[in-house]
Amino acid sequence: MTSKVIPVLPFDMVIFGSTGDLSQRKLLPALFRRDASGQMPEQARIIGLSRLDYNQEQFREFALNALNKFIPAAELKPEIVERFLNRLHHLHNDVTKPDGWDGLRDLLNEYPDRIRMYYLSVGPSLFGTIAQGLAHVGLNGPNDRLVVEKPLGHDLASAQKLNHEITTAFNEQRIYRIDHYLGKETVQNLMALRFANALFEPLWNASAVDHVQITAAETIGVGTRGGYYDTSGAMRDMVQNHLIQLLCLMAMEAPYAFNADAVRDEKLKVLRSLRPIKGQEVQRNTVRAQYLARGEDPSYVEEAGNPDSHTETYVAIKAEIDNWRWAGVPFYLRTGKRLRSRLTEIVVTFKEPAHSVFPNTPLQCNKLIIRLQPDEGLQLNIMTKDPGPGGFRLRTTTLDMTYAEGLGPDWRMPDAYERLLMDVVRGDQTLFMRGDEVEAAWRWIDPILNAWEDSNIAPSTYESGSEGPIAALELMARDGRRWREMVV
Ligand code: NAP
Repeated sequence: MTSKVIPVLPFDMVIFGSTGDLSQRKLLPALFRRDASGQMPEQARIIGLSRLDYNQEQFREFALNALNKFIPAAELKPEIVERFLNRLHHLHNDVTKPDGWDGLRDLLNEYPDRIRMYYLSVGPSLFGTIAQGLAHVGLNGPNDRLVVEKPLGHDLASAQKLNHEITTAFNEQRIYRIDHYLGKETVQNLMALRFANALFEPLWNASAVDHVQITAAETIGVGTRGGYYDTSGAMRDMVQNHLIQLLCLMAMEAPYAFNADAVRDEKLKVLRSLRPIKGQEVQRNTVRAQYLARGEDPSYVEEAGNPDSHTETYVAIKAEIDNWRWAGVPFYLRTGKRLRSRLTEIVVTFKEPAHSVFPNTPLQCNKLIIRLQPDEGLQLNIMTKDPGPGGFRLRTTTLDMTYAEGLGPDWRMPDAYERLLMDVVRGDQTLFMRGDEVEAAWRWIDPILNAWEDSNIAPSTYESGSEGPIAALELMARDGRRWREMVV
């Protein structure tokens, strides 16, 4: 079974930073797969742009290497690879220099009616420069779309500055801020689950839900990226964007329609309802930590090359949403590197039944587990009778739907970038963040980061390969709750 493919309109896509890591690992493979699926129109062109003086042939060879590295050989059918490579062009241009923009405009104006997307796969310090450069040569009209990626700022002030730089060149309706989590099938399915089923909505509130846990755990450390990571940390890298986006989708009201502004308005309301965590509460409701060395694997501070680093590789937060639906229902967020398992999941723990008619058998709360990684799917834990004679015993049974199984053997879970890139061509901003959303998330995060910085208390530590620091267990234990074990 494969998904239905709806071809998109002819487009030209310019990848600024086409020779970089993101382009090789994600963008070129995603575009190839969309081509292979038949979604890409015959005329579509992909124009790589970097300072490397590649000619067309050299860029095609570079792209072929990327496909060979990041796509299984069985998918690389020679005729499709050839068709894809023929779409590729390369321009060498230093975007900080004034020359070069005319050449890009002339190339794009060979087909003036096409959709054009500009993917800024370069460092964020160049976002404003590129947006202004495009606007300067008139490439910011109704058919022009600007795509930017995290990090969208370092704090509220820098996010506002960035938003200002790009929105003075491009209308907000033409800006696509990618959070690739939103392109994941399960995340979109979260909206289907909530808003296309009558089953869950009556239970999706404080009267039935005890608490929600959102976990994004990685097994790898920062490795050679230690220097860069030390200026960022788990809060900026994971919580401000991915985890908060998941929280919004879990907590938001039903939008009046499934369109970009209706969905984003509802997410924004959640962000504005997040109770600020400030001053003393930061100590009580958040945990930050760094991983320790294990065997041959160095500790975080060794990898960062900074023995005094206070940058966190782990964060846990107890978030509360001050609105009618969620009053008194904590949302516990945690993310970290070098943890026991690689998994991303959301767990909704429901309240205990109001009264138990099985006095000698402890009841387990029902749990709905929404897995995003590694195997996308849903699980529902329910109480059932333990089969057999000899008394009436209860046990927890898991109703399990792994999408890969439910959708048949030929199903391939599309990469989030495949979906998102084609949404840009279609002009659908529903799965992209609006500027005010990004700023609202920073507005909530900033006081926590500031309090950490001001406190001068070193982060806690945790064993590599563990489930995180003791302080995170205590954060839950204080409320009489426990994190779900990190098992895949
Ligand atoms: P990267 O490997 O350092 O690549 C940067 C690219 O930008 C290179 O192609 C580089 O090519 C080009 N470039 C740099 N300065 C330029 C200039 N003045 N004019 C024209 N081109 C220039 O970075 P990356 O890892 O791909 O990341 C790109 C962006 O995506 C960053 O903002 C990053 O934070 C974000 N991001 C990356 C990932 C990922 O998985 N890598 C994930 C999420 C977000 P030349 O040096 O040849 O010019």
